[in-house]
Amino acid sequence: MRLRDIMAGANASMYYRLDFSRVRGMFYPRSEDEVVELVRRAREQGLEVTPKGGGSGLSGACTGGNHERIVISSLRMDSVITVSRDQGYVDVQPGATPDEINALLEPLGMRFWVAPSSRDIATVGGILSTDGGGNDTWSNGTMRDNTLRVRMVLYNGARLVVDGHGVKCDDPEIEAALTRCHMTLDDVAASHGTLGFITELRLAIRPISTERLQGGLVEFGDYDAMGAALSQMIRQECPIRYGEAIVFAHDDVREDLAPPLLILEFPEGTECDLQDTGRLELLSPSRLQEMKDIRLKLPKRNPRDGIQVALFEGYGLHDDSLVNMHRSVEELTALLRSHGMEPFAKYGHAPSKWYLGDNTPAYGLIMHSREIRPASMSGRELFEVVMDIVQACKRLGITPKPEHKWPFSDQVKKQRLEELRRAVGGHFNAFIFDPDDASETLASMV
Ligand SMILES: Cc1cc2nc3c(=O)[nH]c(=O)nc-3n(C[C@H](O)[C@H](O)[C@H](O)COP(=O)(O)OP(=O)(O)OC[C@H]3O[C@@H](n4cnc5c(N)ncnc54)[C@H](O)[C@@H]3O)c2cc1C
Repeated sequence: MRLRDIMAGANASMYYRLDFSRVRGMFYPRSEDEVVELVRRAREQGLEVTPKGGGSGLSGACTGGNHERIVISSLRMDSVITVSRDQGYVDVQPGATPDEINALLEPLGMRFWVAPSSRDIATVGGILSTDGGGNDTWSNGTMRDNTLRVRMVLYNGARLVVDGHGVKCDDPEIEAALTRCHMTLDDVAASHGTLGFITELRLAIRPISTERLQGGLVEFGDYDAMGAALSQMIRQECPIRYGEAIVFAHDDVREDLAPPLLILEFPEGTECDLQDTGRLELLSPSRLQEMKDIRLKLPKRNPRDGIQVALFEGYGLHDDSLVNMHRSVEELTALLRSHGMEPFAKYGHAPSKWYLGDNTPAYGLIMHSREIRPASMSGRELFEVVMDIVQACKRLGITPKPEHKWPFSDQVKKQRLEELRRAVGGHFNAFIFDPDDASETLASMV
């Protein structure tokens, strides 16, 4: 194996067994002109294109699904081009990370307010393509809420500019077709690299907050009580700046934790808004940090026996599936147990926000889940469990955030992308649109 193969294959998803002979090139352009030239070469050879950022995506989309393809990485397109403090935006190349952007903005008293836990490695091009967000998404929105405009290169080499209102393209036919489809930034959000290569983003920035925050902990007797409390916080639009849930912890790692519980941060003086959602214990800054660390370390620890596996992160519990949280969690657990797995840890962002495929926002709990799996289980069997989970989620009204919607269980978004791809041409991450092929390929990559 060559270094190039390692770079092409490295990704955080469970789909890592790549057939490197089908990667016809791995490229690191520095400019939009270089991207245009690389796409031209792919086009001439009839190859697909897989855009890749930090490889931290969990859906496997940046693998390209083992099709004959070239991979274009944004990792050398990481410059901050313009900062306009007065007008509240920054123009950046797609390979910059939120941490890199904020390191530059901090001396100016400004901040880019999208903070996934992976903000040190995830690129803004990748975050928009998965519409990511962090544990402050409830207050600050997802990536689409913080993106004003993008530039993209399409498969025919045309350059496209997309904002919240529409598109401009140097190919008049494509511009007319996309305008007829009313394409906007909402379509680029969570498009998983299927429309083109994002070469530049205009991101909204705001002053660093001077708000004084207070930490708190709320423990609940059961899952339904947690679901009801979160639903109430959402209805009352409680001013929560950081919200993390520990839903379940296995005996091996629970220690003195008493899940289900919420770790919260809110502006000083607003605790009364939260009092009637559960027994709120105010935390000192050091205790708050300790709780945040416990939550972050939870999935990094291992069971005494067996192997930990992250099968399907980002269960989106909202509306009925949140109010009936006991049923949601227990049915998923029963399904996993029927496959010989034991729950290890469940945790996530709450209250949180994400978008459904028709672009309406959903509010609730984004729950990650780690299980202990039998050592003998094959990759294909693991993939079958994922497919069962997708079906169970549909039945329970659990809609994963876009990053985890794999393989595109959200048919509304998929159909919309298919409509747009008729105008811009396919060839970018095309494997996503052939469900049988995608399932077969992905099953072989676990
Ligand atoms: C430890 C860890 C913590 C995480 N925490 C969070 C979290 O808190 N919140 C959250 O939302 N996610 C989280 N994630 C998931 C992940 O970080 C996000 O999905 C991230 O947005 C992906 O960015 P990336 O640059 O790594 O993209 P990649 O993984 O490289 O690619 C993701 C998708 O974007 C496409 N893409 C990448 N660059 C471009 C481009 N320039 N043009 C067009 N398409 C492109 C790819 O083709 C692929 O479909 C976490 C992941 C890990 C490993």
